[in-house]
Amino acid sequence: MDSPFKGKVVVVGGGIAGVTCAEQLAFDFPSEDIILLTASSVIKAVTNLKPVSRTLEDFKVEEHGCSSLEDRCPNIKVIQSPVKALDGTGHKVFTEDGRCYSYEKLCICTGARPKLIAKENPFVLGIRDTDSAQEFQKRLESAKRIIVIGNGGIALELVYEVEGCEVIWAIKDKAIGNTFFDAGAAAFLIPQLEAPKAEIAVPCRRTKYMADGDKPALSRTEGGNPGTALGPDWHEGIPLRGSKGVSHSVHVEYQCEVEQIFLQQEFLQQQAKSLSFPGNKAENAELQLDKEVWPVYVRLTSGKTYGCDFVVSATGVVPNVEPFLSEKFDLAEDGGLKVDDHMRTSVPDVYAAGDVCTAAWEPSPLWQQMRLWTQARQMGWYAAKSIAADIRGETIEMDFCFELFAHITKFFNYKVILLGKYNAQGLGVDHELLLRCTKGQEYVKVVMQNGRMKGVVLIGDTDLEETFENLILNQMDLSKYGEDLLNPDIDIEDYFD
Ligand code: FAD
Repeated sequence: MDSPFKGKVVVVGGGIAGVTCAEQLAFDFPSEDIILLTASSVIKAVTNLKPVSRTLEDFKVEEHGCSSLEDRCPNIKVIQSPVKALDGTGHKVFTEDGRCYSYEKLCICTGARPKLIAKENPFVLGIRDTDSAQEFQKRLESAKRIIVIGNGGIALELVYEVEGCEVIWAIKDKAIGNTFFDAGAAAFLIPQLEAPKAEIAVPCRRTKYMADGDKPALSRTEGGNPGTALGPDWHEGIPLRGSKGVSHSVHVEYQCEVEQIFLQQEFLQQQAKSLSFPGNKAENAELQLDKEVWPVYVRLTSGKTYGCDFVVSATGVVPNVEPFLSEKFDLAEDGGLKVDDHMRTSVPDVYAAGDVCTAAWEPSPLWQQMRLWTQARQMGWYAAKSIAADIRGETIEMDFCFELFAHITKFFNYKVILLGKYNAQGLGVDHELLLRCTKGQEYVKVVMQNGRMKGVVLIGDTDLEETFENLILNQMDLSKYGEDLLNPDIDIEDYFD
């Protein structure tokens, strides 16, 4: 193609990373065209951005039609057409509608999709965007039992939100929520799974998806192309209720994985046996054989087999890199495009941000990458700043947000704040944990090493985030305070003022 459309910078992806990147570039280069190519019919916009502390931030995410971004930033042109190929040498990208776009710099922000345990099985669902969330809701309405596989954020939210349906939750770890918590925090949360759901949500500063007109909106897929990832509160406005009259009915199967999935016919032919729902029975209680016939059966590596209406596979995500692989990118083990400390990939003039990329720089000792929307926003913004600096021949320092891992969210209706090496990730054995727990109210865990605070988990309304964030950032020697750090009778804020 000889006369491609031209953009100073072309950004691919209309999720948080892509939109934040394009907006910042539009601001930095007001007289240049910034092209945003996206597969989805809606784009994400971050609004109401408010700092909660130095590193924690609160914002809303709204979904809008593509034109709203063009209205806000007239030098951004949004084109809805999936990218199908890249010519890195020629500095061109090709879209499925047959067009070609040339760029000076390209930023890939195509997100990731669920890693399904079985791809071609119609009874195995992943949740990523509106279509998949609605499909899940539709199927749930007539379901009596589902099996949820996985132990990350999506599985955690799902098992708590689903009502009126038996849920068998199979996890490979010893405790629930292993990505975010340790066994202590899991034990704090478990009673919530057995209790009826609170009608009034505990107030919590957190991000929320809202559409124009305040209606909950969710990301949509077009013609099988990946939509933008949902986020926290994706289930708001979608009742997650099955066909049974129970509130919560969750049984956790620990330390097991899926060995095999059988369709009904296959299972019945084998004359194999499945187990009935164990409910909250003690682990060593005798399990009953199931008399019901189910559409699908799952055999776990623990040797147990359960039937269910469908399976939800929430076992992580795979970065959407395929359209770009005509170029030889350095890929990380998790399949992401490796990026350096300027969000540059291994292909010249090509940057990446958000779920699609893997941080391959030497990280700060208190930061780790997690595919979360706060990081998607931060990376999108920082990629734009790096692109601008490279175009102008300027140098740029790594942004402060990569100094300390900071995440605010909500699990089982509790506010949850995670800072630094909150699970002692990579700290070796010479660390210690300080704990404070009031059942049903708060759980505070502090990770210490050599007298320094390395990370914290705060569940509930603890109001400790700012003080602990400062203590982690300044790496002050706290040895002399010992367990007083968590003494509820000491006002720690005054102490370190
Ligand atoms: P995405 O939002 O996935 O956007 C990718 C964009 O690229 C989309 O617009 C897509 O259409 C486009 N695209 C893809 N391929 C192409 C192509 N070939 N050509 C053109 N465009 C393309 N994070 C949290 O922090 N907290 C949570 O509680 C949380 N809960 C979640 C719950 C669910 C159910 C899900 C699915 C995710 C959750 N996340 C959560 C993760 C968070 O949503 C993602 O980390 C974040 O949205 C990633 O943003 P992104 O811009 O990198 O990618």
